[in-house]
Amino acid sequence: MPKTVVPPHRLRSIIPSLSWCSVHILLLSDVHGNLEALEACLAAAPPYDRVVNLGDIVGYGGSPNEVIERSRSLGNLFVRGNHDKAAAGLMELNDFNPIAGLAALWTREQLTPENLQWLRGLPQGPIRIDGLPGAQFVHGSPIDEDEYVVTVRDALEPLLAFSVPLTFFGHTHLQGGFSGNADMNESFRPPYKTVGQAESSEWRLQNGMHYLINPGSVGQPRDSDWRAAFAVYDSDAQVVSFYRTPYNLKAAQDRILAANLPQRLATRLAAGR
Ligand code: ZN
Repeated sequence: MPKTVVPPHRLRSIIPSLSWCSVHILLLSDVHGNLEALEACLAAAPPYDRVVNLGDIVGYGGSPNEVIERSRSLGNLFVRGNHDKAAAGLMELNDFNPIAGLAALWTREQLTPENLQWLRGLPQGPIRIDGLPGAQFVHGSPIDEDEYVVTVRDALEPLLAFSVPLTFFGHTHLQGGFSGNADMNESFRPPYKTVGQAESSEWRLQNGMHYLINPGSVGQPRDSDWRAAFAVYDSDAQVVSFYRTPYNLKAAQDRILAANLPQRLATRLAAGR
């Protein structure tokens, strides 16, 4: 059998069929029932092909059903967060502080039977996506879904424990991440110029490095920046773009107060803590 050789001029017509290799992924994490912040992120996001939600869809915020329904309308790539498990009755509330526990119980009462059922069925990370063998998606850490990766030291083991170079995670509500190889390991925080405007910041990824990348929290940021956070991963250019966007903070706070949830859950949104 003669080998089939593709003439160079035909390659161009073949390449588009491989376009699934180049994908823009919108990364959302820790929405925490904050519908106003979620809508602001979706309005501010550049064009994307898929959405991956890194968990904690509910808990703390005043719009759990609305946020679940909006999130489900965006796709089917989710990992569960600890607050999702708590609201779904899949874990004890002993590990939660009293305010988080109260919010989890309130959320459970609000959920429609269908949304409760859906929440119970969310997968534990890591998950992978067809056509993107170099990336995995988790809530806390790829080693333990409930682990907080906050410091360079925390990142050391999960960074290098897997052959997959890229891990997207949430849970800490801190936008940025960690890079490393066998010799070194460092953290990254996107630099921003303002405190109230829409902004973005790019992180160019390099071959041979491993990364743990957190898009930040949509609905309850804790990096002293009240703006809703998200990120977009461009798999072709190997760039992660981090975004911050202002949102209708007052409306999100009013829902929390109207639900008689602890006042602190409303005030902390303004402080980004
Ligand atoms: Zn969270």
